[in-house]
Amino acid sequence: MTEKNIFVLIKQVPDQSAKAGINPDGTIDRAKAKRMINPFDKFALQAALETKRNYGGKITVISMGPPAAEEILLEGIEHGADAGWLLSDKRLAASDTLATSYALYKTVEHLKPFDLIFCGLQTTDGDTAQVGPSLAERLGIPQITYCEDFKIEDGKVKARRVIEGGYQWVKTPTPCLVTVANSYHHLEYKTIRGAKQVQDLSRQPEEKAKVIRFLNLDQINADPLLCGLKGSPTIVAKTDKVSEIGGSCKIYQGASAEQMVHEMVNETNLLEFVK
Ligand SMILES: Cc1cc2nc3c(=O)[nH]c(=O)nc-3n(C[C@H](O)[C@H](O)[C@H](O)COP(=O)(O)OP(=O)(O)OC[C@H]3O[C@@H](n4cnc5c(N)ncnc54)[C@H](O)[C@@H]3O)c2cc1C
Repeated sequence: MTEKNIFVLIKQVPDQSAKAGINPDGTIDRAKAKRMINPFDKFALQAALETKRNYGGKITVISMGPPAAEEILLEGIEHGADAGWLLSDKRLAASDTLATSYALYKTVEHLKPFDLIFCGLQTTDGDTAQVGPSLAERLGIPQITYCEDFKIEDGKVKARRVIEGGYQWVKTPTPCLVTVANSYHHLEYKTIRGAKQVQDLSRQPEEKAKVIRFLNLDQINADPLLCGLKGSPTIVAKTDKVSEIGGSCKIYQGASAEQMVHEMVNETNLLEFVK
């Protein structure tokens, strides 16, 4: 079996446990936000690591974002990826999903060939789940979305997809794009080898530049008019802050379900409420 050339698309997102600032126009103040790898992309990285382990191959982690997104590519190396590419260009600022999928498409075209592209299901900031499918469309390759298990048989990807009320097995030839569901296996620990490599790279900038490489729009031959604000038809008309829902919670611990329900009904005047 030939070794697989595996691409994984990962995005750096604001860490939601640390409150991100909101700009006056309602957009996220990304410069001030604490950053992390999109949690959904960890499942995509795990799928790539398992593919490499089971079928052999090379993993390239790819991201589009500001220079700081180099951090998540290095995190990918710590987990076992072989190389990283970051598309970073000021002209990409304010890209919506259409512009993002175009820029990533041009990046993948620049870096190909590939057998498999793994994406997360969605991100925790944009949350549209559009980028993977639109990238596959632009590349003209088959896509398997919501994948929670897969294997490669006779050169074809056989995958189990989550669907409403159950699952579905599908089979497609490579090259193809797979968006990985969060019911997939959790990302395994960083490898000692990977962690050591990243530690060494941080002391050797020239060596680091051979593993994590940067691209701009000119290098991937992308049309700047299709990127950033100019290439983004989406208009954020208004954003609202959702207020936290208050209220207290009590856990009933009786001898039986019946007793607990009685206790709850008596205490809360639920019957009055139902009337
Ligand atoms: C008007 C507007 C302005 C915006 N401005 C900015 C901005 O300035 N900076 C910014 O970061 N975002 C910006 N966004 C958000 C940005 O458009 C989306 O986050 C981005 O297009 C990806 O869409 P998503 O988050 O819904 O990804 P989804 O479609 O939910 O992501 C699915 C998968 O695609 C892959 N993916 C998505 N984005 C990337 C990426 N950048 N690099 C690598 N892989 C990726 C990942 O595997 C991810 O799991 C803006 C959005 C709008 C509407």
